[in-house]
Order: sequence, then structure tokens, then C-alpha cells
Amino acid sequence: MDLLNTLVDKGLRRELPTREEALAVLATSDDELLDVVAAAGKVRRQWFGRRVKLNYLVNLKSGLCPEDCSYCSQRLGSTAGILKYTWLKPDEASQAAAAGVAGGAKRVCLVASGRGPTDRDVDRVSRTIEAIKEQNEGIEVCACLGLLSAGQADKLRTAGADAYNHNLNTSEATYGEITTTHTYADRVDTVQQAQAAGLSACSGLIAGMGETDEDLVDVVYALRDLDPDSVPVNFLIPFEGTPLAKEWNLTPQRCLRILAMVRFVCPDVEVRIAGGREVHLRSMQPLALHLANSIFLGDYLTSEGQAGKTDLEMIADAGFEVEGAGTVTLPEHRADAIAAAGCGSHAGGADGGGGCGSHGDAGGGCGPCGSSEPAGSSAPSQAPKTDAGGDETSDARTDLVAVRRRGAGTDLAPNA
Ligand code: SF4
Repeated sequence: MDLLNTLVDKGLRRELPTREEALAVLATSDDELLDVVAAAGKVRRQWFGRRVKLNYLVNLKSGLCPEDCSYCSQRLGSTAGILKYTWLKPDEASQAAAAGVAGGAKRVCLVASGRGPTDRDVDRVSRTIEAIKEQNEGIEVCACLGLLSAGQADKLRTAGADAYNHNLNTSEATYGEITTTHTYADRVDTVQQAQAAGLSACSGLIAGMGETDEDLVDVVYALRDLDPDSVPVNFLIPFEGTPLAKEWNLTPQRCLRILAMVRFVCPDVEVRIAGGREVHLRSMQPLALHLANSIFLGDYLTSEGQAGKTDLEMIADAGFEVEGAGTVTLPEHRADAIAAAGCGSHAGGADGGGGCGSHGDAGGGCGPCGSSEPAGSSAPSQAPKTDAGGDETSDARTDLVAVRRRGAGTDLAPNA
């Protein structure tokens, strides 16, 4: 297929595909799917080999958010039966993080619900970062606290944070349909503040919210311009109790096409499969490892993932290996650029590095807290519907959605 040969050549050279080529990947047929995965897999192996980076989420503060992100089980008015609790103490968060590190994670992601942190919140998270760094040598810490105010990114960096996550989530054109309490521009601003402070930017998207193929391509190109070092790809978990509860739009095949498109557009960036992996990729998860080089181990913010042990077995069975703490995640040219920019971590960087191929500075911010976390109870099955591409259908798999009831904020051991 000429399209795939062209995309592989461009990916190996870190060259930007055209929008038409990115759209064509999303429009490929099921007959072509394995060819698409094989082609994007070549690009993935060129920059990341067969390594899989494991990340571990710690939900520092859950639920009761005043923002109205439609996809989020923690939103204003959500009736999802999720865990609700206020800030974990530094030692509680550190204990939760240690479970993920023991399971093989090399990055801990500290997430808190809310529009954005107060300065007091930043001080509290700074103490948590210091506690985690003290007890886990070499671990990367990413903070995800929502929209940042002036000076907060610097404080987090000084406390030892390596990265900051804030997702763009969807295209600028449709952002207002998903959230009304903050704007796409707010998100861009926060990612740029993090980059300016020398934090590695992590910013991604949520697929499955009823967007078009053009929206998906728009957000991925905006991310490439923003030049984050890691791009989490969430697949919406339509939690009951949220406005998007009926949006069961994704098939495993569609998810694989989306991941392949992201890999072609952002060839040398850490592409992470985030929320919804188990729910939407299901038995096709191992194929997705040929596209993404990073996953979350264990549970998500408000929903449960498959057992951490199963994650590790899946990686080994598929012929991949867990990336060790001593290994630099990003390709040398990106890591060198980060070092030159004076960013201490080997995660990503501000604006020095090659990013996603180019160094534009558009941007988008990740959504506050950034996760496509679903809401609670199981719901009756809904009728299959046509997805954004118009040629696939998906059954509502509410049987695969489980509210998190263990780990942070509970007395039960975490899944790691
Ligand atoms: S994504 Fe973050 S800001 Fe938006 S509703 Fe959820 S917790 Fe609040």
C-alpha cells in the first residue's frame, strides 16, 4: 500500500504526514488493519524498540470537582458512584506510589480533581513529590493538578517534579461542546507554562466522544505543534451518571487505527495508551503495544484496570519488555535537546527538543486532570451506534466498566 510505505518513510525521518494521509489511516478497512499496525509498528520500533514504559496513577483527591468536563466522572453534577475523598497525605500518596514502583512503574502520575491548585495545594503536592522521590530513587514524577497559575509550575519543578500533564482532549473547534467552565486556550496556556518552567509536557486526547475523524486529526496535529514529550491516548469510558454515558462509539479496530495515526504524526514521542484500554481494545490490547510504547499499570483514577500482573504477562507474551528505571525513554535526539534546555529529567522538555517532529508552539492544554474517567454503576446495554467514521458499530460494554474500590483513598491494597 503506497500510503503505508510513505508513512513509514516519513515516520523514520520524523517528517510530518499530510492531513490527508492521517485521515486516510483512520479510513482504512478491517482488511487493511494488520498492514496498518505493521507499518506503524516499524516506526514505533525505530524510536522505542520493544520497550514498554509503565506509569502508575495515584489519585490524590477524588471527585467533587466544580468543572463540567462531560467525559469525567468527577465533574460537577456527576452521579457516578465513584470514590470521593480529599487530599491524601504525603505519606499515604508515597505508599500508594511505592506499590506501582514495586510493580515495575518508572513514572508516578499524581492527579487531583479540580479546576486548578491553590498555592497551598501546590505546597502540599510539593511535599508529596519530595516524599516519593526520597523513597524511590530514580523515579519520575508527573503532576496533573489542572490549570496552573503564575509561578506554580516553577514551584513544582523546584520540588522535583519531572513532568506536568494537561490534555488537550479534543479539537479546538469542538472543545466548547465538551466543557464550558474553561477553554481550550486555558489548556494551551497551562501546558506552555509547564514547558517554560522546564517540566516535561505530557498532553493527549480522548477518543470516542462523538468527534469526527477531522477532529481527531486536528487535536493530534495541535499536539504535535505543542510538542509534548508524551501523548496519552484515552478511549472514553462512558460512565453512567455523566453526559457522555451513551457514547459507546469505539471498536478495537477503531482504537488501533487511532493509535497508528498518532504514531505516524508523532513518531518519536512517548505514545501512551491511557484510560479505556481494557474496555475498548479488549483482547486486541497486545496488538496496540506495536503502536504505543507506554501504558498505565493497574488501575485508573476512578475505574479499575486489569490486574497489574496481567499487564506484565501481556507485555511478555506479546514479545515486549518493561522499560527499566535506568533506561532513557525518549530517543537520543530528544533527550539531548532536553538536556541542552536544562531540563533535569530524561522525560521531555520545553521547547528545545525535536518534538513530535516539529517545534511549533501552538498548544493545547490538557484538561484539568486529564483523564477520561468514567463514572460508576453499570448501566443497561444500549443499542449499537455508528461511530464517527460512519462504518463501524460498537456494543455498550458496561460489563467491563468497574468503579475503583481499592488503592488510594481506601483501606484495600492497590492493584499494581
Ligand atoms: S477532568 Fe478534571 S477539571 Fe474536568 S471535571 Fe474532571 S476532575 Fe474536574
